[in-house]
Amino acid sequence: MAAGELIGSFALTEAEAGSDPAGLRTSARRDGDSWVINGSKRYITNAPLADLFMVFARTNPEEKGGRGISSFAVETSTPGVTVGPKDKKMGQSGAWTAEVFFDDVRVPAEALIGEEGRGYAKALTVLSRGRLHIAALCVGMAQRVLDESVAYAATAKQGGAPIGRFQLVQAMLADMHAELLAGRSMVREVAARYDSGEDMSIGPSSAKLYCTEMVARATDNAVQIHGGMGYLRSTPVERFYRDARLFRLYEGTSEVQRVIIGGGLLREAGMPRG
Ligand SMILES: Cc1cc2nc3c(=O)[nH]c(=O)nc-3n(C[C@H](O)[C@H](O)[C@H](O)COP(=O)(O)OP(=O)(O)OC[C@H]3O[C@@H](n4cnc5c(N)ncnc54)[C@H](O)[C@@H]3O)c2cc1C
Repeated sequence: MAAGELIGSFALTEAEAGSDPAGLRTSARRDGDSWVINGSKRYITNAPLADLFMVFARTNPEEKGGRGISSFAVETSTPGVTVGPKDKKMGQSGAWTAEVFFDDVRVPAEALIGEEGRGYAKALTVLSRGRLHIAALCVGMAQRVLDESVAYAATAKQGGAPIGRFQLVQAMLADMHAELLAGRSMVREVAARYDSGEDMSIGPSSAKLYCTEMVARATDNAVQIHGGMGYLRSTPVERFYRDARLFRLYEGTSEVQRVIIGGGLLREAGMPRG
């Protein structure tokens, strides 16, 4: 995978286990030297291209919630693995998603990743790092739409003068710039704290929450500054407007980030769980 010869795919989400992945129903049953996996996953990025899936499945049906979930490396070529047709999405057309079905898929004991029953903890670690990654992506996209907007405002004319002369247009550029700076600074600080092990949960969730909402406002302003041109497929900001919508949904919705942040702060203050 590191050499780029195999494409991997992270298969956690199910029909009734999205924001609450601990409720997943895919099962893995030990049978001699093998595990037998049954269930299905949806919205799985890279599924139509993947050589290998990291599949999360319940290995202990007695355990509820996150306990009793394990993760497995499952090759796409294994009998019983089927990938559905590509989903038709609103944006991010360069990333393909699909459903994946596991029908009595038999994998060797070595396919278990890490410890049995610790897969959910592993998923949370991966997702937390991914949230930081998405926050950084949003900063990049916000910079691009700001650059496009400044260039457009400086040249597109109304009444013989560039629209950038209008202070209400300048105000949109100013908001985009100020929020972009805030997002970039936040990503840098949160990434440093993540690397030092100081904060691997509240920080990444806060950066994901702020930067995904920041880029939504930035892409919206960019379309507004472009006027009717912003609504045309030929304009880059039209694509970014659609692409940005996904960031608030995957790797934990904005609501889920707020739950993680609020709950985390209260736990740090000693509030008991439950
Ligand atoms: C394009 C795309 C790519 C994806 N790629 C992957 C992938 O590679 N691998 C993978 O495993 N998954 C992937 N996902 C799945 C993604 O992570 C989930 O869609 C996301 O976590 C939301 O889950 P859901 O769709 O089931 O929505 P739901 O969880 O049903 O949420 C619906 C609404 O209810 C709200 N809600 C739910 N629970 C709570 C709560 N406790 N408190 C407050 N509000 C709540 C949500 O915030 C949301 O507004 C992808 C999804 C998309 C659309």
